Amino acid sequence: MAIKTFRGGVHPPEKKDRSGGLAIERWCDIKQVVIPVNQHFGEPIQPLVGVGDMVKRGQKIADADGRMTVPLHASIAGVIKKIEPRALSNNLEGPCIVIEAQEGVSGDDFMAPLDAFTCSKDEALARVREAGIIGMGGAGFPAQVKLAPSKPISVVIANGAECEPYLTIDERTMIERPEDVVEGLAITMKIVSAPEGVIAVEQNKIRAVPLLEKAISSSPRTRAGMKMRVQVMRTKYPQGGEKMLITALTGKEVPSGGLPMDVGCVVQNVGTLCAMVEAFRDGKPLIERGLTISGGACKKPVNVIVPIGALVSDLVAAGATQVNEESLRKVIFGGPLMGVAVPNYAIPVQKNTSGVLFLGKEEVRPAEEEPCIRCGRCMRACGCRLSPALLAVAIETGDYREAEKIGLLDCIECGTCAYVCPAHRQLVQKFRVGKQVLRTIKQKEKEAQNAR
Ligand code: SF4
Ligand code: SF4
Repeated sequence: MAIKTFRGGVHPPEKKDRSGGLAIERWCDIKQVVIPVNQHFGEPIQPLVGVGDMVKRGQKIADADGRMTVPLHASIAGVIKKIEPRALSNNLEGPCIVIEAQEGVSGDDFMAPLDAFTCSKDEALARVREAGIIGMGGAGFPAQVKLAPSKPISVVIANGAECEPYLTIDERTMIERPEDVVEGLAITMKIVSAPEGVIAVEQNKIRAVPLLEKAISSSPRTRAGMKMRVQVMRTKYPQGGEKMLITALTGKEVPSGGLPMDVGCVVQNVGTLCAMVEAFRDGKPLIERGLTISGGACKKPVNVIVPIGALVSDLVAAGATQVNEESLRKVIFGGPLMGVAVPNYAIPVQKNTSGVLFLGKEEVRPAEEEPCIRCGRCMRACGCRLSPALLAVAIETGDYREAEKIGLLDCIECGTCAYVCPAHRQLVQKFRVGKQVLRTIKQKEKEAQNAR
């Protein structure tokens, strides 16, 4: 089998050995959750519960109308203690619903099972939305929107690239739940009427391949004629980015400002596929997720499933993981390249939290920026074919229109450019701020136009 990849990218030290061999644990002994109300990419939703209400696990606790919304569910049974702003993993404050476990309050409030292969497409999309499923590997795009493309889909890609260093939860999911990954892929193919499904796995996770292939060959969906296969990819960062993965697999490029459906693709993270299986088979909404906790200052690396809203500080206090406070220099939500550094770890796990890293001194790069030396390394490494150094100049000089013209909105914030930059330029931070400003400018222009 030919091993595929994309142009550009980097090979950072993988650092997956600390947790890659550890089976996924389930940590349910959580007495309190702090559930961010708006974890999805889209319009905000509103709480449906008040302080003092008793809730079951799986009960809907926030929702709103709107295409780009998903509801939110209680991840433990208990009593609503507070609804208030709390610090989130994006370093902003956002409304959170605090639930405390209470004796005598228990039970699940799940939906009835639904057969994804006999129900209508509308019923299937409604189920995915009602389960509160978002893309668990990235920006939190509502899954029901992704599953209703306005263009024909030729291939569904199960994203098992997991290219960020340290993170191993997707690898463990493919090793421990290959049947669910395959079933989730088949469900997605059924919903979007795709003739082919491909599970993309990087070479450094090769041990998952025979397990996935066996699951495909023994799947009733294969016997029913669905075409699924595993594709091995060369290990390279940021291959897990949708655009990179599509190019690597199909040779097609998602156009600037476009979506995967523009080239006939739908990409779903393997964790999202498992969540979809649970939503149909068990009627279970997205109330828990697996993540990797690792890093040089982590004394007990784990792959662990926890309720959404569990505070990482509570996981440490309960012994699910351990931190070496003396050597701890940085806490990151996500991977080391795309993740966000946070000031402490009293922060809740969200639906799209794939990992939490406790990094030690030797793992933290110097923060002082130096002037750009125009070496061009960032340009050669960028898988999106952008010119990061030029983008940074445009943003620094406040020329956001120029930044837009040279592709700012196509940047996937993968951090590859910053990783290779010898001047330690804080490129991704600049791009994040630049995008924010550009979106505000565009919004204001739209409002002014509408007012005319
Ligand atoms: S410019 Fe954006 S897409 Fe390109 S390497 Fe930098 S962060 Fe990644
Ligand atoms: S890698 Fe850094 S120093 Fe080199 S051109 Fe890009 S921004 Fe400048």
